[in-house]
Amino acid sequence: MDAIDYTRVDDVAAALRAAQQPGAVFIGGGTNLLDLMKGGVAHASMLVDINRLPLDKIEAVDGGGLRLGALVRNSDAAVDARVRERYPLLSQALLAGASPQLRNMATVGGNLLQRTRCHYFVDVAFEACNKRRPGSGCAARGGRNRNHAILGTSEHCIATNPSDMSVALAALEAVVIVQGTKGERRIAFEDFHRLPGDTPQRDSNLAPGELIVGVELPANGFAANSHYLKVRDRASYAFALVSVAAALDLQDGHVRTARIALGGVAHKPWRARAAEKLLLGKALDDAALAHAGAAAIEGAQAYGENAFKLSLAPAAVARALRIAGGAA
Ligand code: SF4
Repeated sequence: MDAIDYTRVDDVAAALRAAQQPGAVFIGGGTNLLDLMKGGVAHASMLVDINRLPLDKIEAVDGGGLRLGALVRNSDAAVDARVRERYPLLSQALLAGASPQLRNMATVGGNLLQRTRCHYFVDVAFEACNKRRPGSGCAARGGRNRNHAILGTSEHCIATNPSDMSVALAALEAVVIVQGTKGERRIAFEDFHRLPGDTPQRDSNLAPGELIVGVELPANGFAANSHYLKVRDRASYAFALVSVAAALDLQDGHVRTARIALGGVAHKPWRARAAEKLLLGKALDDAALAHAGAAAIEGAQAYGENAFKLSLAPAAVARALRIAGGAA
């Protein structure tokens, strides 16, 4: 067993200093990190406990949005009256994730950094996993890949991002706020997570030593017409096979703005811009929904066991849009 040092910090500056030490890793709720460390997938020589940082508030921001501190627990964010009223899409996505016990521990910042649940990644008995061991290959491409990606894949990795919250944040066009030794950065949500390319070991564009301090939600939460739909193997405590965050601005039954993001289909929350564009000015009739569903997975490729997602994803998009539009 590796020796691990532990330090608890009280302010962001101290956290950033501690993170300079080689092998230092931030720990908040630890719901994913500790599992990976126990399994020998993640390693740290120093755990920097950030739970005492003053990042556990949900606050109004100029312009009408809300800022969720990075240490707000998923359960608290989901039931916050402002989130429920103004961003029901986010509340639904949070409540669709994990179990109540895990949501009580998991943080907003940590949720963004969840690692894939590809079984070849989480089990070190498997040799070939470019994400865990760069250059070793990808066992999932010709192996068990029912849960894997159909969009944005590379020859090096076909894993999916497991977060429900992130799918809603992509549709809402949230902004991730990070702090590093050189100051603060604001990262548009779409630019936060990465596609695998030839560096699948990197899930996000967070730089080494940077700390997520919050997530900012824009003023428009599409509260009147939004829906998070999660299709999974069982009703709770299961990752998405396909999920859809749909948000609409409607006028006289016609679409003025559409936002569609998919989970369970790519290495990052997948923004379906072609489908969004196609819906502009349209009524949400069967033909428009079918076109949008098909456009949402333009360019998709299956790898064997996950071929069912090629029909499941368009149907889920159509259904999410229909419910967001007010249908039962
Ligand atoms: Fe590893 Fe990615 Fe291949 Fe899974 S899909 S085995 S995480 S390289």
